Amino acid sequence: MGEFELIQRYFTRPTRQAVLGVGDDCALWQPTPGMQLAISSDMLVSGRHFFADTDPYRLGHKALAVNLSDLAACGARPLAFTLALALPRADPAWLAPFADGLLALADAHGCELIGGDTTQGPLNICITVFGEVPAGVAQRPGQIATAALLRSAAQPGDDIYVSATLGDARLALEAMLGRVALDAASLGRARQRLEQPTPRVALGLALRGIANACADISDGLLGDLGHILQRSGVGARIDTSVASEKLASATLAAASNAPGCVSPQQRLAYVMAGGDDYELVFTAAPARRADVVQASLASATPVTRIGQIEEAIGLRLVDADGASIANNFASFDHFAP
Ligand code: ADP
Ligand code: MG
Repeated sequence: MGEFELIQRYFTRPTRQAVLGVGDDCALWQPTPGMQLAISSDMLVSGRHFFADTDPYRLGHKALAVNLSDLAACGARPLAFTLALALPRADPAWLAPFADGLLALADAHGCELIGGDTTQGPLNICITVFGEVPAGVAQRPGQIATAALLRSAAQPGDDIYVSATLGDARLALEAMLGRVALDAASLGRARQRLEQPTPRVALGLALRGIANACADISDGLLGDLGHILQRSGVGARIDTSVASEKLASATLAAASNAPGCVSPQQRLAYVMAGGDDYELVFTAAPARRADVVQASLASATPVTRIGQIEEAIGLRLVDADGASIANNFASFDHFAP
C-alpha cells in the first residue's frame, strides 16, 4: 500500500461541514460570522507519551482526545482537525483500529478530519484541532475581546474547581512500570483512563460566561493551576484533604486503602501532580456557585471545589485544620533539569 492509497483508505471520508476536505493542497473551511477560531496542536511521540505497543484503537482516541481537551479548556466547540502522521510501516492491522478509534471520537464530537500529512518514520502523531468561540466584549481594560475561557482571567476571591477525578492515569503508569502492585481489575480501569481519556468538551462549553479562568490538566493539577496563577498574576490556597478525599478516583481510593499498595502520600501526589488526566481546573466567582452546579449537571460532569484564588502571589497548600503543607509535588516537564 502506497502513501496515497493509505490516505484514501483510512483517512478520507465524505466532507460534512468542510467546504473542501482531504485531497487538495489545502482544506477549505467557511468561518461562522461572529465566531473566533480556537486552534491547538498536540504531538504524541512513541516511547515518550505512550508505550510503542499501546492498543491502536485507544491511541487513535487519545491522540484526538488530548487536542479536544484543549478546546474544552477554552470553552470552544470542536469543528475540524488535521492529522500529521509518521509511521514505521503501512500496517493495516495497526492503521484500521487506529483510524477507527480516532474517527469514533471525532464523530462523537462532530469534529471533521480535513487534512494532514503522512510520512515514513518513527511513530509520531501530531493533530491540530480547530474549534470556535463567540467573539466577546472586553470586560476590563487590557482584557481580550473573546468569550473563550482563558488562563489569564482568574480573579482574587474566585473559587477553584476541578472536574471528575484525578490520579488514575498516574496510577496506571506506576503499575505498568512495576512500581505499584495493582490487581488486574483495578489496573484495567486505571489504564482505560490513561489510554482513553474523556475530553470535557460539554463542561467547557457550559462554563462559558460562568467560569473566569480555565485550563486542562495534562501535566498535573498543581502545574496546570500554576499556569493560571502565573498568567492571572494571582495566588491560590488549596485544601489538600478535600483534594485527596474528593478528587481521588474510586480505583485510586481503593488502591490506597489496600495494604502495601499506594500510601496516603502517593495518593495525594497522584492527585496533585499525576498528569495525563485531561480534567479541567477552573475558577469562578463565589456568586456563580449555583451556575457552576448547573453547568456541571447540564454536562453530566461532576466538579469539586478545592480552594480559592488569593491576591498574594504563590500557591499555599493547607490540610483539613488549615496547617500548611510543603509543596514538593513536581508536575511533568519534558525538559526538567
Ligand atoms: P502535499 O504534498 O501537497 O502537502 P500530500 O500529498 O501530503 O499533500 O497529501 C495529500 C492530501 O491528503 C492532502 O489533502 C492532505 O491534507 C491529505 N492528507 C495527508 N495525510 C493525511 C492524514 N494522515 N490524514 C488526513 N489527511 C491527510
Ligand atoms: Mg505533504
